[in-house]
Amino acid sequence: MTVAKIRLYVEHPLGQGQSVPLNRDQAHYLFGVMRLSPGNAVALFNGHDGEWLASVAEAGKRGGTLRVDRQTRPLQLPPDLWLMFAPIKKARTDFIVEKAAEMGARRICPVQTDFTNSERIRQDRLQAHAVEAAEQCGGTYLPGVSELQKLDHVLDTWPDDRRLMFCDEALAGASETLGQAGGDKWAILIGPEGGFSGAERDRLHAAPFAHPVSLGPRILRADTAAVAAMTLWQQALGDWH
Ligand code: SAH
Repeated sequence: MTVAKIRLYVEHPLGQGQSVPLNRDQAHYLFGVMRLSPGNAVALFNGHDGEWLASVAEAGKRGGTLRVDRQTRPLQLPPDLWLMFAPIKKARTDFIVEKAAEMGARRICPVQTDFTNSERIRQDRLQAHAVEAAEQCGGTYLPGVSELQKLDHVLDTWPDDRRLMFCDEALAGASETLGQAGGDKWAILIGPEGGFSGAERDRLHAAPFAHPVSLGPRILRADTAAVAAMTLWQQALGDWH
């Protein structure tokens, strides 16, 4: 059986016999960097159709074509979990997006809080990080990265059926956990390096959908907190068992 060593995310529909055109970057990666030639195998996924085995039909410097052969895995959707976080320094923000994609977030939502350090994000760059992480971790799903939204707006328009795991550094050392919370639509909220403002904390503690939790006795950096919170959530309510 042919086993593909390379996994590639494509936007094209996937199905038996499909031809998938490659753009310049993909051709450069497959043929320039990975040195594939016609006949070599590549695993493809597009976030909807599962994973498919394909082979190189045409290889060029600026393009090429893959031919799809057969499905190797069905689509596996992650749980309906959004990771909401306040963007921090570039490398750490990239890390959060990469880890969220690996750990099984359905959506990645940068939010601007009162003490958020940056007012702007490069959504396209963050999305590219999520693509790389999905390619590497064997996922068949690609979490979308939203544009930066204001936390107040997110809370004003909060959907009735979604719960919020509010990671509140003011609870460090307290025993607040997810406990017996049920429900299958969730979001995690992680604050910036400066933490949440008093007003934000008041609002979140009063919100009926919010479950304030502690992530242990020490204050974690936001990127660590994101990974820790996703671990706890996945273990309690997600697809880890
Ligand atoms: N500067 C703040 C800490 C911010 S840590 C202070 O010194 O208080 C960044 C984010 O990580 C926080 O907003 C929170 O969402 C999360 N976090 C870090 N440690 C935590 C803990 N022990 N419990 C709950 N959330 C935590």
